[in-house]
Formats: sequence, C-alpha cells, structure tokens
Amino acid sequence: MTTREGQFSRLVMAAEPRPFWLDQPGAPPAREPLRGATAADLVVIGGGFTGLWTALLAKESDPERSVVLVEGHRVGWAASGRNGGFCDASLTHGAVNGRKRFPAEFATLQRLGAENLDAIQIALDRHGIDCDFERTGSIAVATQEYQVDGLRAADGTFLDTDAVRAEVNSPTYLAGVWDKQGTAMVQPARLAWGLAAACERLGVRIFEGAPATGLADDGDGVTVRTRDGVLRAAQVALATSAFPALVRRLRPYIVPVYDYVLVTEPLSAAQRAGIGWRNRQGIADSGNQFHYYRLTADDRILWGGYDAIYHFGRGIRRAYDQRPATFATLAAQFFATFPQLEGIGFSHRWGGVIDTCSRFCAFFGTAHRGRVAYALGFTGLGVGASRFGARVMLDLLGGEPTELTRLRLVRTKPVPFPPEPLAYLGIQATRWSLARADRRDGRRNLWLRALDAAGLGFDS
Ligand SMILES: Cc1cc2nc3c(=O)[nH]c(=O)nc-3n(C[C@H](O)[C@H](O)[C@H](O)COP(=O)(O)OP(=O)(O)OC[C@H]3O[C@@H](n4cnc5c(N)ncnc54)[C@H](O)[C@@H]3O)c2cc1C
Repeated sequence: MTTREGQFSRLVMAAEPRPFWLDQPGAPPAREPLRGATAADLVVIGGGFTGLWTALLAKESDPERSVVLVEGHRVGWAASGRNGGFCDASLTHGAVNGRKRFPAEFATLQRLGAENLDAIQIALDRHGIDCDFERTGSIAVATQEYQVDGLRAADGTFLDTDAVRAEVNSPTYLAGVWDKQGTAMVQPARLAWGLAAACERLGVRIFEGAPATGLADDGDGVTVRTRDGVLRAAQVALATSAFPALVRRLRPYIVPVYDYVLVTEPLSAAQRAGIGWRNRQGIADSGNQFHYYRLTADDRILWGGYDAIYHFGRGIRRAYDQRPATFATLAAQFFATFPQLEGIGFSHRWGGVIDTCSRFCAFFGTAHRGRVAYALGFTGLGVGASRFGARVMLDLLGGEPTELTRLRLVRTKPVPFPPEPLAYLGIQATRWSLARADRRDGRRNLWLRALDAAGLGFDS
C-alpha cells in the first residue's frame, strides 16, 4: 500500500460505520412485533418504500380495507433508508435501458414515470412528510472523451466543458447533460419514516421485528406465518426486494448486489464556494462503473457507487455492509474529482443491498391464484419507481385490466440468473469486462456483446 492509499484508508476508517440518513434525529421508536393471530384484507410484507407505498395507496383508495404491514427488522432500515436519495422519474433504470428494452411503449413509460414523480411530490405535501425533497434535477457528466457524444444525444440541456464546470467545478468534467425535471433529491430515511407515520394515521397496522417465514393457500385467502404470529389475509403484496422471496420460483430472477457510500463532513463556506454547485443537482458520471453524488441539506457530499459486489450463493450478511477496500477506492476517486476539497474528512461509510435483475428494472406478477402480487428487481433505481411498483401490485390484486397491467413492462419478466456456480462466475466475468470497457473508451468485449444480444446484464 502506498502512503497515499494508506492515507485514504485511515481517512475512511475514521468515519462512523452506519448510514448517515438513519443516524439522524427523527427516527420513530421501534414498533411491536406481531404476536398471535390476526386477519386483514391486505397484508404487505416488507417495510421499504415499495411496501410502504402499497399500504398507503391501498388505504387511500379504500379506507375501509384493513391493511397490515409486517417488516422483518425496522421500517426503512434496508435499501430504502440507506440509498443516495435520487428520486428519479425513470421507471426503467434510465432512458437508454428503457428505450432499448421497451421501444414501443417507451413514451408511455416516460409519461407514467413523470406522473409518478409529480404524485410523490403531491403526496409529501398532502401527508406533511418533511424529507428535504428538492426538485433539483440531475446532471450526467462525461469524464472521458468517448462519453461526450452519448450525452449530446441524451434528453436535457447539454453543457459543454465550461458550462458544466460553471455548475459544479471539477477538473475531470468534459461535458454534462442537465435533466431539470426528472429527478428530485430526498432524505430517504425521513421519507420512509414519514410514509410509515402517514400509513398509521390512515389506520394501517405496522409490525416490526416480524419476518414472514411462509405463505400458504388457505381456502379463499392466504395464511402468512411470521416468526411469532400468523396472519390470515385476503390478499398479500410482496415487497421484499433483494431478500429471499417467499415465492420460491421468483428467486432466480434476483441477485443481491452490494453498493457502497461515503458522506463527508459538512463543507465550510470556502469549500462550498470552491465547488460552486449552487443548483444542488444530483450528479452521476457516465462509466459502466459509475459514481452518484449529491449535497445533503447540511452541505455534506454523499459519494457512492462504482463497485457492485456480489457474494457467492446470493449471500446477504450484515458484515457485507462494510468494505474497507471499496471505501478507500471511493475516497481516492472523490479527491480526484474534487481536489480542492483535499483535507475534508468523511463522517459516515456504509453499504447496502440492491435487488438486481438482468433487465435492470422491476418486474411484476401474481402467485397463489392471483391473491399474492409482487414487485421486485428495481436494481438501484427504486426510490421513485417503488411507488409505481406499489400501484402495479394493487392493480394486479384488483383483478381488472388497467393501463398499468397491460404494459409490456408489467407482463414480461427478465431473463433469470443461472444457478451457482454459474451465477457467480458469470457476474465476475461481467464485472471484469465492464471495468475493462471503462478503461478502453467504452469498447465492449465479446462477453458483453453476447450478453447484450441475449438481453442480459449486470448493473447496480
Ligand atoms: C447504497 C444504495 C444506494 C442506492 N441509491 C439509490 C438512489 O440514489 N436512487 C434510487 O432510486 N435508488 C437507489 N437505491 C435503490 C433503492 O434504495 C431501492 O430500489 C429501494 O429502496 C427499494 O425499496 P424496497 O422497498 O423494494 O426495498 P427495501 O428498502 O430493501 O425493503 C425491503 C424490506 O423488506 C423486508 N423484508 C424482506 N424479507 C422479509 C420477510 N420475509 N418478512 C418481512 N420483511 C421482509 C426487509 O427487512 C426490508 O426492510 C440504492 C440502494 C442502495 C443499497
């Protein structure tokens, strides 16, 4: 290890090893687990954004419907409380992916995504949820010459080198595209806590520390077993993201992938002036292994992405939330992007698990004779799309065709991942190839081209 690498390692290891967002005031006290037997018209499994929006929208559309949400740990503790807080209009993990996979309905998906983001903003106002929602838009930046043409073709305001550096001052930027409408910044933990409180005000019963362990058909309903209790449900919504799906046949469609984040100390007035960023946009660079970064309400920089780590056998463990080598890499890349911030420290470091599927955007369906609906596979862009996923699940449970259930996006599934050891080997080969393409002006090797042709991919 060089002196410089050692310096980055020491710097990141001084940070608190937990998500900044969840480490803020305003966390609700723990809720009781479910004990004994109870019944509900709708049982939602999973207390992240997907489950919380499902419970909230179900109650809003039918206040008489009894709704129970069971969360295995704490509401918002998983991806929903530890993400970058980019609340994006895209339902397809970005326009390039959406246009490629759903050309015939891409315009409809873009419209539905824009409506979804507007509806989130309206719901926050209606329910008085204060989550630092800022409709700043986002800038995609090019840091290598070959990326510039791609940005010229993208939707939004093209910024040449001077214009992009006038927005945010990094010597690495060659160009940018500012999409002014399509992204809002949020404090995600406060969004999850606020949604849960809104659900409870409408009468949803939420149980925490209540992992669901099994589903069984039960005459005209479904029995949901939890660790300490049992629920009789007319209908169930599965919102369990990267965690093992209770409907076993869905497991091959998802791999849990770890993504990592650093947060700096608050910037001083001089540091803030040195980088500009007056319009506070979210920023993402354009490599396969990309970074995403943004300002927090108290002017720290959240800096995440790059490594996407898969553990053999679909492993999910608390220990994987920390990865010193990735944090040191992220710190080095941070200072290469903002050399004028040399000397600033990091206050928090963490990782979290993403429900990656091979088409990078959620898939949907029903099981148990239409009584169980699921929305899984948001692949790193689910903060906004989770509300759309909730609407799809409620429409599927409604049983009548709707605009959403007719979408190809909703009717089709991604290509499943193969069993081990092929999944692990394939993902490692793909990661290696993507890193190599980033070093070679984006040129994709034979392996990546074969995956492209088969509609398969790996992303975060
Ligand atoms: C580090 C990181 C950065 C990210 N950045 C962004 C970003 O900037 N923008 C963006 O759009 N997306 C981002 N994402 C992705 C985004 O956070 C997710 O797509 C979104 O939060 C998914 O919400 P969810 O409710 O489906 O999943 P989760 O938030 O993971 O919630 C699933 C919940 O289900 C519970 N559960 C699982 N199994 C059971 C069971 N059997 N019984 C009971 N409960 C169960 C879990 O405990 C968990 O609370 C990021 C993710 C990570 C990890």
